[in-house]
Amino acid sequence: MSTKPIDILLVEDSPEDVELTTLALQENAPSRLNVVENGENAVLYLRKQGDYIHSATPDIIILDINLPRKNGFEVLKEIKNDPQLDKTSVIIFTGADLTEEVLKKNGLLREQVIRKAGDYSDLAQAVNKIALQPSCQNQEEDTLSSVPKPGLKILVVEDNHDDVELLKEILFIKEKYEWRLQHVVRLSEALTRLNEEVFDAVILDLTLPDSRGLDTIKKVREHKSKVPIVVTTGVRDEETGIEAVRNGAQDYLIKGQISADLFIRSVQYAIERANLEHVREELIGYVNHELNNPLTVIMEGISQVADGILGEVNEKQKQFLGKALLHIKRLVRITDDLLDSTMLEFGKVALKKDTFDIVDLGKNALESFRSLAAKKNLDICFNSEQKKLDVYADKDRIQQVFFNLLNNALKYTEKGLIELTIKDKGPVVECAVSDSGNGIKEEDRVRIFRKFERLDPSKLNNAKGAGLGLFICHELVKLHSGNIWVKSKMGEGSQFIFTLPKEKPL
Ligand code: ADP
Repeated sequence: MSTKPIDILLVEDSPEDVELTTLALQENAPSRLNVVENGENAVLYLRKQGDYIHSATPDIIILDINLPRKNGFEVLKEIKNDPQLDKTSVIIFTGADLTEEVLKKNGLLREQVIRKAGDYSDLAQAVNKIALQPSCQNQEEDTLSSVPKPGLKILVVEDNHDDVELLKEILFIKEKYEWRLQHVVRLSEALTRLNEEVFDAVILDLTLPDSRGLDTIKKVREHKSKVPIVVTTGVRDEETGIEAVRNGAQDYLIKGQISADLFIRSVQYAIERANLEHVREELIGYVNHELNNPLTVIMEGISQVADGILGEVNEKQKQFLGKALLHIKRLVRITDDLLDSTMLEFGKVALKKDTFDIVDLGKNALESFRSLAAKKNLDICFNSEQKKLDVYADKDRIQQVFFNLLNNALKYTEKGLIELTIKDKGPVVECAVSDSGNGIKEEDRVRIFRKFERLDPSKLNNAKGAGLGLFICHELVKLHSGNIWVKSKMGEGSQFIFTLPKEKPL
């Protein structure tokens, strides 16, 4: 047993747990126990800041998860991100039952987590084990990295057995990676497996017995929004690979051209890319939340002042307040669109479907643009042979599609007519927003539905936008199992058409 007393930092807010831990550790190797009662103080202690300038550098940190002023995971993140601290052994000591997913997300090994139970003998044993390691005595070695890292765990979804055998051979050649492949043939089996186990990446064929094409990626995403996906495509089908990446896959490989190095690089790249996407998703959610709430408060305040609710306002003041409101509304729209497009991209928009009259919805949407059209001297009209047409869809989301298309029609048209037409087409309803603007060239008609794609704004009267509106329309219509496309004649105008199923699917 080690003779050097070890320094332990216990981060624990419950006095009762502090007492029990102290008692449990008394039976152990000689140790000095220091206690802090919240996450912020733990970080100060470890960095020797504030009241803790003279604190001892701990050999072991025993960290509770449910802590005030910074939870255990946040403290852990700070430890891992600090090169001075990232070698310190951490034991997570918690009442919670942490899932594999939580462990993985926080870079923890199962053996680092001890459940609070009984006489705390498990904790004492874990501390003893670390205290006996040579690294704890001379602090030169990396205690965490001395635990061998297991190879990646990959789920291969492929119905061609020859292709699977080839992958296995490839990895056999590179056996030092110790990757573990699990193989399933059908998408349904893959979804079940993904629910049951944590995989580092999925290798996904897009022609499976029970699913074909890009929808296959969406279905995997709906199940596991963050798992990295590498799609495999046929030799003459590179286009599909590129489309797959646009639709949520992280990378693609062309069958027949897969070498060991390429395969390993692609999977590692996919994992890195998925991590980055996750960070971006969180950042957009955070920024949106931090911007949107204050913007709504500012908008409300300015509206009240402009409406004279808080006292008389002269014309000049009204004019300035009106301009400010316009800019704020635009900002709110951009932050909403950013969040919506990110949520759609990550398959996180849940539809609230019900039966409603789309003729009524369309008419009302068009009416809300009437005054704007009048300001631009544009005619605006609604056409439908039916007085009422029921669809089964998410009313708010379809209203959003109408608004985006009508908004574009007005934005990109300088003279003439804007029309909204709704037609009964048997099992589906067809809605079309037409304008008499400049039109869209044939080669641009697919790309404008992609994220952040905008045509040359100088040719479109410098109309402002972020290039998200059509992407959102496309994703929302697809989510409803509908279609959306554009017809256009240069110099004459454009027509954006989308379909929606009328009936609830069986
Ligand atoms: P935004 O309008 O914010 O730029 P969208 O995604 O709604 O983004 O549209 C993408 C691009 O498609 C626009 O920048 C514009 O170049 C083009 N576009 C969209 N609607 C029309 C239209 N009705 N007429 C001409 N061009 C259009």
